[in-house]
Amino acid sequence: MRRAMVVLLIISAVFLNGFDGPSLKKDRFYYEKKGEIVWEVPMQEKKVALTFDDGPYPPSTEPILDLLKSHGAKATFFVVGNRIRRYPELILREQREGHEIANHTYNHKYFNRHSDSTMLQDEIVKTEAHLQEMDIEKPKLFRPPGGYYNEAMVRKVRSLGYTTVLWSWHQDTKDWRKPGVQAIVDRVMNHVRNGDIILFHDYVPGSMETVEALKLILPALNEQGYQCVTVTELLHSRNSLPIDTTE
Ligand SMILES: [Zn+2]
Repeated sequence: MRRAMVVLLIISAVFLNGFDGPSLKKDRFYYEKKGEIVWEVPMQEKKVALTFDDGPYPPSTEPILDLLKSHGAKATFFVVGNRIRRYPELILREQREGHEIANHTYNHKYFNRHSDSTMLQDEIVKTEAHLQEMDIEKPKLFRPPGGYYNEAMVRKVRSLGYTTVLWSWHQDTKDWRKPGVQAIVDRVMNHVRNGDIILFHDYVPGSMETVEALKLILPALNEQGYQCVTVTELLHSRNSLPIDTTE
């Protein structure tokens, strides 16, 4: 019985890894190895990247920028195109204060079921055009809403000159669900390690939990010697540490 199990395991291992054809499993390992999607950047330096999705949104983006400033932290904002038009002054402030501006589509479209690459291109280029109108350079990074990705999406995003960036699996604060300030703080501080990409949102209508959590997280990270840098800076600090994809 045990021998049969072993044979079965070997056969399935060959099937999963042995063929470079349609049967190849295109999972995190596949895209991470090719450098086409980034989840985190394992490194020896004590650096992490705070990322904020779905903004700008004055009630939270403004206090977040104030907090980042007072703690000397830099962050990456994955902005939604249609909000850039409504709050251009916030985008300009993000840029002026040394944060990275990245693309999160124009209408927060999900690309999970169908991958309409014309629509995806439209969503990315429209956001980029609005930024360029404001004299902001074309972003280098793209994060798909909901974190959904597929081969066609990754290819299209690359052809438009972007790297797809997701987040460390152990650093999904789920702040959009309003889990409570302490839950957000614990999620980050109980799991933090070098090179983490931490996921927050600066558009959660009716909630100040992210802002309140940052009031505790930023000093705690400082105290532990972590430097908060942009995702691009994190990528440039990349060294040869192997990527660990286990939780
Ligand atoms: Zn989003």
